[in-house]
Amino acid sequence: MDLVTGNIGWIEVICGPMFSGKSEELIRRLRRAMIARKRVQVFKPSLDDRYARDEIVSHGEMRMPSEVIRGAAEILDKLDWRTEVIGIDEANFLGPGLIPVASRLADSGKQVIAAGLDTDYLGRPFAPIPELLALAESITKTLAICMRCGNPAKHTQRLVASDELIVVGAAGMYEARCRRCFEPGIPKQEMFDFARPPSRGDAAPET
Ligand SMILES: [Zn+2]
Repeated sequence: MDLVTGNIGWIEVICGPMFSGKSEELIRRLRRAMIARKRVQVFKPSLDDRYARDEIVSHGEMRMPSEVIRGAAEILDKLDWRTEVIGIDEANFLGPGLIPVASRLADSGKQVIAAGLDTDYLGRPFAPIPELLALAESITKTLAICMRCGNPAKHTQRLVASDELIVVGAAGMYEARCRRCFEPGIPKQEMFDFARPPSRGDAAPET
């Protein structure tokens, strides 16, 4: 649903795995708001420096100027109070502080459109997006295409070994997987590590 034609405050969330078109959808909605002559400001966390510092860029190379923030509270600091529509990309990186900020903005008549990952690399709900979904007027779940089998994909498969919740990267470090092909906690390198000689503990017992 596209709510941009209304004139009261609300929260819209676009969520899904990586490579599912979240940023494209965010940019599309913000452009529609601009066409409707609404004042728009776009924010993204500084953590996401994959492509560019002062713009949001989708994997499909759509781009839009944005302001870099280090935390959710900085949205309030940098907000021009004449702004009517506030876009937030990579909202999952902003932590629990996003909830009161988004609520306050919506309560004061602003239209908040946030895009972010709804699950992490282990398939767990990725705070604060689940809570934001509960508070939102409109939710869009975008699906990617599974890189293994071509089915609709809701998971972000991490391909590099790391226990960190956040490892910023794009192609080569992550790929989309469907429910059937998703392998939480099993990086691909582990499966295709032919080079590593078996340690003594792994060797089959000799008979
Ligand atoms: Zn699959």
